[in-house]
Amino acid sequence: MRASAPSSRAPLPKSPASTPHPRTAWCAAGRTRKRKARWASPSCGTPPPAWAPAATGAWGTGWRTPSSPACRWRWRRPDRSRAGRGARPAWNVRYVGRFAPSPTGPLHAGSLVAALASWLDARAAGGRWLVRIEDIDPPRCPAGATERILRQLAACQLLPDEPPLLQSQRDAHYQQALDDLVARGLVYPCACTRRDIDAALAARGLVHQRHVERPYPGTCRAGLNGGTPRAWRLRAEEYQSNQPSAGVNERPDAMFLITNAGVRWHDRRLGAQFQDVAAQVGDFVLRRADGLWSYQLAVVVDDAAQGITHVVRGEDLVDNTPRQILLQAALALPTPRYLHTPLVRGSDGEKLSKQHGAPAIDETRPLDALAAAARVLALPAAPPDATPAQALALWARAWGETYNRAP
Ligand SMILES: [Zn+2]
Repeated sequence: MRASAPSSRAPLPKSPASTPHPRTAWCAAGRTRKRKARWASPSCGTPPPAWAPAATGAWGTGWRTPSSPACRWRWRRPDRSRAGRGARPAWNVRYVGRFAPSPTGPLHAGSLVAALASWLDARAAGGRWLVRIEDIDPPRCPAGATERILRQLAACQLLPDEPPLLQSQRDAHYQQALDDLVARGLVYPCACTRRDIDAALAARGLVHQRHVERPYPGTCRAGLNGGTPRAWRLRAEEYQSNQPSAGVNERPDAMFLITNAGVRWHDRRLGAQFQDVAAQVGDFVLRRADGLWSYQLAVVVDDAAQGITHVVRGEDLVDNTPRQILLQAALALPTPRYLHTPLVRGSDGEKLSKQHGAPAIDETRPLDALAAAARVLALPAAPPDATPAQALALWARAWGETYNRAP
């Protein structure tokens, strides 16, 4: 028998996006007149789940996921026939980007690269740029860190178009996403400790290596065997193996593709990417043993809730992307486009991070901090007497020529 669902909360109010609009001549096939983009509108298809208030969200490409309510939609390339060469494709007006720092400390040189890149990508596309504070792990977030990050961004003239979204206030939304998956039998409780997982892997001759994901051996997939449930895991292996095999419904222009072999996707900087999620990660955690939400679940729910169409973030998160694409499909949520920026490394070759004691950027000298980030992104040098706003305008033009030409 399936485990009982975790406590559910009162349903959230329905979002405007889930209210179907009247059918018109422009809307015969589930698309609105406004959208000439590859993204199809959800507004006259099956409404999105009420807990996904994706008022500005881009929905589509559900043809890869037979269980998705979006499966009737096809994507379309931007209509450039009238726009002319070099003109901004229509999809750009639907651009919503974001910067999503964890407030485990102030911004450092590495996190400013991701902030600057995501801001430039949004501005170069004429889109909106949002900030989300990923404070789902309160013990790791010192008091005042969020305010410091927002002050640092403001000093650098990286100003969000909406008030920041705080993940610490989004518990009910994550719970509803989990409840949805529980109701559909796509998750199961897990009693394993890290030691149990290592022991099960060692029994198969696999030794855990640093910086390498521990693939979950599937111990609790068929039941807890008397163990106490600690975490909730997605049935990623089963979900992946139920997808069509490669070659079925395959389109060469697909930005992502889920088959029973794994997740293939396109990164705007790194190119073609692939991960066999079932083999390399296994059934991954959505709610942790300590009761906290996993990064994967919170990001996927919030990217949809904020209507994010383009994710620009550090390359350290590149191997998380296939998990998120799989989870988006399982939750019938849209998949944004991805661009992963180069990492800033310390003298020891390790990624610059708060854990490694990276110094905070100096918000009294914003141009210096921005110029260092721009160098990492291979952007041209700004004149030394430029203001941050002038430098940002220069880099936004350069960025647009590099990354915003193609859809
Ligand atoms: Zn387990």
